[in-house]
Amino acid sequence: MSRVACYMLHIYNTLTNRKEEFKPIHPGKVGMYTCGPTVYGYIHIGNIRAYTNADILRRYLEYAGYEVRHIKNITDVGHLTDDDLAQGDSGEDKLIKKALSEKKTPQEIADFYESYFRSVENEMHILPAQYFPRATAHVPQMIKIIEGLIEKGYAYEKNGNVFFDISKFKDYGKLSGNTLENLKVGARLEEHPDKKNPWDFALWLKAPEEHLMKWKSPWGIGYPGWHIECSAMSTEYLGETIDIHTGGEDNIFPHHEAEIAQTECFTGKQFVNYWFHGGMLQEKGEKMSKSKGNLYLIEDIKKKGYTAMDLRMLLISSHYKSSLNFSWDAMDQAKKNLDRISEFIKKLKSVEPMELSKKGKFDDKKLKGYQDKFESAMDDDLNTPLALSAIYEMITEVNKLMNDKKISADQVKDILNFWEKINDVLGLRLYEKEEAVPDEIKELAEERESARKEKDFKKADKIRDKLKEKGYEIKDLEEKYEIKKI
Ligand code: AMP
Ligand code: ZN
Repeated sequence: MSRVACYMLHIYNTLTNRKEEFKPIHPGKVGMYTCGPTVYGYIHIGNIRAYTNADILRRYLEYAGYEVRHIKNITDVGHLTDDDLAQGDSGEDKLIKKALSEKKTPQEIADFYESYFRSVENEMHILPAQYFPRATAHVPQMIKIIEGLIEKGYAYEKNGNVFFDISKFKDYGKLSGNTLENLKVGARLEEHPDKKNPWDFALWLKAPEEHLMKWKSPWGIGYPGWHIECSAMSTEYLGETIDIHTGGEDNIFPHHEAEIAQTECFTGKQFVNYWFHGGMLQEKGEKMSKSKGNLYLIEDIKKKGYTAMDLRMLLISSHYKSSLNFSWDAMDQAKKNLDRISEFIKKLKSVEPMELSKKGKFDDKKLKGYQDKFESAMDDDLNTPLALSAIYEMITEVNKLMNDKKISADQVKDILNFWEKINDVLGLRLYEKEEAVPDEIKELAEERESARKEKDFKKADKIRDKLKEKGYEIKDLEEKYEIKKI
């Protein structure tokens, strides 16, 4: 099925503060870099939102016919505990802190949380990046950029520490608006004694003797700053100028502003053509974050009986740029919406010939009309809520026609084909075969059903909890029940 919409994909570019038509550097190909997790803890559903946003963008680019090369880094060094507040030189290394507290090596910590992150992405049906480079494996590339920056006069070394001199880069602040002028009036948090200017940021830091992760460098034994890793890994795998760089809006400053400064001063070229930033997932109006502890993991969602796809539905039901307040009511609504879509697909797949008509009323023009609505919404800066409303509209119309037996077998086939494509974009796993339910689970469900019939509700509830622990949920219908994997 070819595209219908004649409008082309427009995405909001943080660099220019407007929606722009997307034009790749190389026709038909897209290079995309996503700042990945700092692997010192479990990723939470706020992080999942950022990766789901990037996933929807990637899926839609692929739907539009582009070949996407997607790189997502793993931060396993250099991200300091106070980075969110300062310029990359305050606090302790997040991984080292965790390693010391758990009496493990930083590598063990990184392996464990990277593997958790990868399994959550898989569960959330986020397409895996082609490559997940680790920062610790790219220190020589970082050193090379830092050397180049010192040579060109953009960075300076003092006492084994190297800083980027932001006064030397006239475009500093072009992404976030935090120009040197604007920063001067802002409050400072902490000053490093070796810095010329408090807003200069760390490229390399001298490692104290007991520091767990350290490397040899032209400036002595040390470790890299957080920002430099993304410059090193994106240029390594995607070249000096890349099409799209994604992240949550909290990454705009200082992280992405610093990435631009380092990379552009080193290469002399524009670093990124489109900066794609998503809004924050909030809890009671506050950003969900590890430091505040007001977060939910995917396990918390499942414990309440929702699936990873219910969560995905919740996330894509609002525009990626807006703030989204998490609530259980919103989860409930998302589940209902997803159930409605799943029921619809099931119904289409199991429709009996006697329920069809020879000459149906859902012709090609109608189908193309909905496809056009879906694509136009997605083309307009990935407006998923609008695209979903086109889908719901279509469900209502087709359901009515099916009830009135006014739909033909060919039309059902065309609708299902169309849904398969839509599903590739939304990633809701609508078409995946339902996994066979293990015998043990079936037996427990039967036992519960008997208990229910005998009105032993205590026993029935106990078995329901047991099933939940094993990852299954029971839905009681009128005369029967349904077993679903959570
Ligand atoms: P971090 O591990 O803190 O570097 O975060 C990984 C990614 O998650 C980054 O792209 C952040 O911008 C994003 N992120 C962190 N917290 C949230 C949140 N509450 N909502 C949406 N994205 C977030
Ligand atoms: Zn980054």
